[in-house]
Amino acid sequence: MSVPKEATAAIITGVDQKPEISRVEIPKLEPHAMLAEIQTATLCGTDIHLWHSAGKSMPYIPGHESCGIIVSKEGNHLDVLGESVEIGDRVIWAYPFCGECYYCTVANQPTMCPNALRFGREPVGVYPHLLGGCATHQYVPPRSSVIKVPDGVPSELAASASCALRTIMHGFERLGRVPAHETAVIQGTGPVGLYALAVAKSRGFKRVLSIGAPTSRVAVANEWGADATLNMDEVPERKDRVKWVMDQTGGIGADVVIQCAGSMAVSEGIDMVRAGGRYLSIGEGGTNKDIEITPRAMSVKMLNIIGVRSGAGRHFYEALQFLKYGKFPFGDLITGTYQLDNIADAFAGMKSMSEVKAAITPNG
Ligand SMILES: [Zn+2]
Ligand SMILES: [Zn+2]
Repeated sequence: MSVPKEATAAIITGVDQKPEISRVEIPKLEPHAMLAEIQTATLCGTDIHLWHSAGKSMPYIPGHESCGIIVSKEGNHLDVLGESVEIGDRVIWAYPFCGECYYCTVANQPTMCPNALRFGREPVGVYPHLLGGCATHQYVPPRSSVIKVPDGVPSELAASASCALRTIMHGFERLGRVPAHETAVIQGTGPVGLYALAVAKSRGFKRVLSIGAPTSRVAVANEWGADATLNMDEVPERKDRVKWVMDQTGGIGADVVIQCAGSMAVSEGIDMVRAGGRYLSIGEGGTNKDIEITPRAMSVKMLNIIGVRSGAGRHFYEALQFLKYGKFPFGDLITGTYQLDNIADAFAGMKSMSEVKAAITPNG
């Protein structure tokens, strides 16, 4: 496959500035590094959050959810199953964790690695330059876990697996066993909330309830099999939403509440968990303000609060298998597709939430 000398990339140059389209040198590959031609990059709330705030790493190429075809490589790179990755393979890949720090080795929590590169926010002026998906090409670092995309999984869904769905797989791993008598509440009906609903429905919960907005997204939750839904636009008062969960659960609260709505939903979600239940907090966007939790929520209520960040190679693999074999109309999540030249419209659509998930196809 031919590799040009330069890639074409969208570049964020300032807070809330329109992305600029520019040429970026394709770097020489380190041993075991690869270069992918991007099929699709998808945007999520994190891209918008970084756009509003990531002053210190600007300029950078946005996009941390990418699916691409390998067009060049330097030496061998094995995938998560130990098979060689070849030119022409369609793949997704994880952040490269260092493999040597306390988190990577002793704690076995590589997503906490302080030395990892994080795609879609690294300065474009620093080697290897191409670390964002909103470009014709992206650099696949030597230490990245690489996962081949199964036939039948579209590139835009594979791209989305490399953020939302892999984090959900990691979250469910941390949540542990789900007895068949348990009820879950999912806070949020965005891409993360809808994926979490699909995974929860597949994990044996007795009932899965969804809370979200706007109406169009709540309709998707109904279509995907939520056992009951609450539209926040129709029920604006927090106490009424908590009461709804109590009414739905015989007055005891949900066994498990999964936060996929951003940090502002945490305090309300904790009120929805039953005594002795579990709260899984996935969504990381939203306010940085402190929240108040009464000590009773932690001790007397015997609450188990579980956080999760990102995912390792096995979670990416699990996410792709779920997309391949899960019986849900996952394509509903991708509401718009944009060429690189129109990426500003994609950012605007994500900001206004008129898009659930926007896909960028940098190579046409
Ligand atoms: Zn590390
Ligand atoms: Zn993302």
